[in-house]
Amino acid sequence: NLRCVIVGASHAGSQLAIQLRKNGWTGEIVLIGDESQMPYHRPPLSKAVMSGEKDADGILLRPAPMYQAQNVTLRLNERVQSLSAENKQVVLVSGEVLAYDKLALCTGARPIRLPLGDGLDGVCYLRTLADVEAIRARLDEVRRVVVIGAGYIGLEAAAVLRKLGKDVTVLERAERVLQRVTGPQMSAYFQNLHRHHGVDIHCSAEVVAINGQQSVESVTCADGSTFKADLVIVGIGVVPETGLAEMAGLKLDNGICVDEHACTSDPDIYAAGDCCSHPSALYQRRVRLESVQNANDQSRVAAANICGANEVYNMTPWFWSDQYDVKLQAAGLCDGYDRIETDGSAEPGSEEGFVVTYYRDGELIAADCINRAKDFMYYKKLLGS
Ligand code: FAD
Repeated sequence: NLRCVIVGASHAGSQLAIQLRKNGWTGEIVLIGDESQMPYHRPPLSKAVMSGEKDADGILLRPAPMYQAQNVTLRLNERVQSLSAENKQVVLVSGEVLAYDKLALCTGARPIRLPLGDGLDGVCYLRTLADVEAIRARLDEVRRVVVIGAGYIGLEAAAVLRKLGKDVTVLERAERVLQRVTGPQMSAYFQNLHRHHGVDIHCSAEVVAINGQQSVESVTCADGSTFKADLVIVGIGVVPETGLAEMAGLKLDNGICVDEHACTSDPDIYAAGDCCSHPSALYQRRVRLESVQNANDQSRVAAANICGANEVYNMTPWFWSDQYDVKLQAAGLCDGYDRIETDGSAEPGSEEGFVVTYYRDGELIAADCINRAKDFMYYKKLLGS
């Protein structure tokens, strides 16, 4: 009886477990996750969970009985501490040794920590349900929030907190918001949108201190400007969780290095999701994506290949973000563009929607669509072909 062990019980791990059965895996499936909740959708954490519209039960990835029905042994609240590829076994924090025939690393990513404000009450990060519950538990006493980092998560949190009536300041080190993931037009769009809703956004603002005695009181930037805060949310990016892979001597390259079949440098170990980078035929380079699409699609390919198929992972990346009444849907990756086209109105509140398309050497490489679902579907399909 063969055993497949999956480390990490979130989007990638949960999908991989279910897909193994769909692909005919008859052996044991052990899905191990170190969080205490059933596998849940992470995107609502900075959206409907933060706002209080949804709770833990409302964001489950799959109904609890499904794991039982598929004969998946789900072990929550347990962390894999070490991996020996040579002996084909993992060791849990409890000391238990678990042998595997096939292993899947779906360990995701963890937030980059600021070396500031350590131990101060009210300095929060946003990755897990527990993180958001901790933020929500203090919201009644919070009037002023400083969000450090204007990536998608920081901006989504800012939008929700503003809607809840908080005074929100966003501090971003780069020259514009969303600099890493989008072009200047979209950055300007979101910057205006947030200002329109009353968020105080400062770019080129390098945070140098988070101040307070026991609880956070303020945040100071390199130019000396100081912003009062009862709550600080740090959203400055993530790093792939590669500890186990490193321990096992697997090849790394901006995360765990997998090939187009989602296989690592060890033929019995696969990886999927935020933790790994893969070769992209579309972009002709390795990419590491942080999206639900990638976690789902890559783990589907990994599961098929663990079961003996020879599938290639080559999907068009796509992503979404919800802020106020705006839905951004992005297809493709825009870095490396040499030409941009815009269509529609960039005015906050415009009914028309707004699309930015990105080209390289005359070829479409990405499209960012604001409240334009049909255009998004069109461009996603076009990129796929
Ligand atoms: P993760 O979800 O990070 O899961 C990895 C799991 O493995 C975690 O539970 C971790 O605790 C566990 N783990 C790690 N190491 C071990 C170990 N040694 N032993 C046991 N367990 C371990 N994407 C979108 O496409 N659209 C969005 O709108 C969007 N919004 C987001 C909002 C927020 C607040 C966050 C945090 C992310 C958002 N994302 C969004 C990104 C998306 O959630 C991630 O890309 C996705 O969760 C990746 O799934 P994963 O399974 O690869 O990794």
